[in-house]
Amino acid sequence: MKPHGPIPDGFAADADGMLLIGGQRADALVEDAGDTPLFVYDGRMLTDRVAEWRAAMPAEVQLHYAMKANPHAPLLALMASLVDGLDVASGGELAAALASGMNAEDISFAGPGKRDRELEAAIVSGATLNLESAGEAERALSIGARLGIAPHLAVRVNPDFDLKGSGMKMGGGAKPFGVDAAEVPVLVRRLIDAGAKWRGFHIFAGSQALDAQAIADTQAQTVALAARLARDIGATPPLVNLGGGMGVPYFPGDRDVDIAAIGAALAATLADRDAILADSGFAMELGRWLVAGAGVYLTRVVDRKTSHGETFLVTDGGLHHQLAASGNFGTVIRRNYPVAVANRFGVEPVETVSVVGCLCTPLDRLGDQVALPRADVDDLVAIFQAGAYGATASPSAFLGQGPAREMLV
Ligand SMILES: *Cc1c(COP(=O)(O)O)cnc(C)c1O
Repeated sequence: MKPHGPIPDGFAADADGMLLIGGQRADALVEDAGDTPLFVYDGRMLTDRVAEWRAAMPAEVQLHYAMKANPHAPLLALMASLVDGLDVASGGELAAALASGMNAEDISFAGPGKRDRELEAAIVSGATLNLESAGEAERALSIGARLGIAPHLAVRVNPDFDLKGSGMKMGGGAKPFGVDAAEVPVLVRRLIDAGAKWRGFHIFAGSQALDAQAIADTQAQTVALAARLARDIGATPPLVNLGGGMGVPYFPGDRDVDIAAIGAALAATLADRDAILADSGFAMELGRWLVAGAGVYLTRVVDRKTSHGETFLVTDGGLHHQLAASGNFGTVIRRNYPVAVANRFGVEPVETVSVVGCLCTPLDRLGDQVALPRADVDDLVAIFQAGAYGATASPSAFLGQGPAREMLV
C-alpha cells in the first residue's frame, strides 16, 4: 500500500456518504453536467481563499491571479471580480483576461517568445508587458512608436537567487525567463528615455514551495534586489511584482504553507524597505495556491479487474485531463495525489487498488496501490487539488478521448 496525499479541508459527505462539492452531491453534479469525467470548481472556496490571503497579507500588497493555472471562463470571471490584477502568458490569455472584465491597466503579460502581434495587442489594450529580454524591449518600443502609443512596460528580472525547495525554479543562473539582474538598469533607462511608461519590476523566483521561511527569505531578497536596481536606475518602480511561490499539499506528508507567517514576514520586510521604494506598490501573483484546492476531478469506474494479484479500478478519466496526478507534469518521483471514492467519502478503506485511466499507456495511473473503500463499476472516483494545472495543462487530444467537462458551482 502506498499513501495518498491529504484530502483538502472543507470537503464532507452527506448522510449517504456522497461527496458534496459546493453543497451539492457529486452524483447530482455529474448528472447536471451530462457525464463524467468532470472538473467541478467550488466558487465559495475560491472566494474564501482570496479572503484568507487578504487577511494574512499586508493591506498594501495587491493580489494578482496567474490565469494559466485555470482559465475556465466562469472561474476566470469570478477570480477577476475578487483579485486586483490578472497575469497572462500569451495573446490568447490576454484576450480571455480582457473578456473577463478586468481593467487592462491591471493585466500584465509575461512569458518568453511573445510575437509581434501579441506585443501589439497588449500595447493597444493598455496592459503591461513584463519584458523578458532586451530584444523584446526593442520590438515593443518600435511597435509603440509605430502605433503612437507609449507602451506600459515592466522588466522581468532574472534574480541571482532561486526559491529554496520550490517545485519549479524560475530564477537563478541561466534561464529563458527575464533579464539578468546586472543588465536591468541599462534596459530600464533605455525604456524611460524612449518615452515608454515604465511600470516597474517583475521578479518571480519559483513556484510550488511549502516552506514559509523559504518564501519569506525569497521575498526579502526580492525587495532588496528591487531597491538595488532602483538605486542604480535612479527612479522608483511604480510596482514591484514579488512573484508567488506558494504551493499546495499534493503528496503524503505535505502540509499547507503557513501564510500568516509569510504575511508577517512580508509586513516586516516592507516596513524596513529602502526609501527609494517608499512609494512603490507591491503585488504577489498566485495561480495554484488560489485555485487548486477548489477543484475536484470526478471520474467513473468503467471496469474492475485483477492482474497478478493487483486490483485495478479502470476509470473513464486519465492523464489526458489530469496529467499532473499521473506524475508526468513537473514531478521527479511519482506519488499519489489525494484520491477518494466519491460515493463512499469518509468511509474506512478496506482494500488496496490502483486507479488507472482509460488511455492505452502505462503512464496513465491516477492512484498507485492506494487504500480505498470498496469501489465497483459505476462508482465515482474523485481526485482533489484538481483546480490548478488540470484540464488546462493536460494533453486532451491524446488518444481521442476528448476534453473533460468543467463546471463552476
Ligand atoms: C506560472 C506562473 C505563476 C503562477 O505559479 P503558481 O505556482 O501557479 O502560483 C506566476 N507567475 C508567473 C510569471 C508564472 O509563469
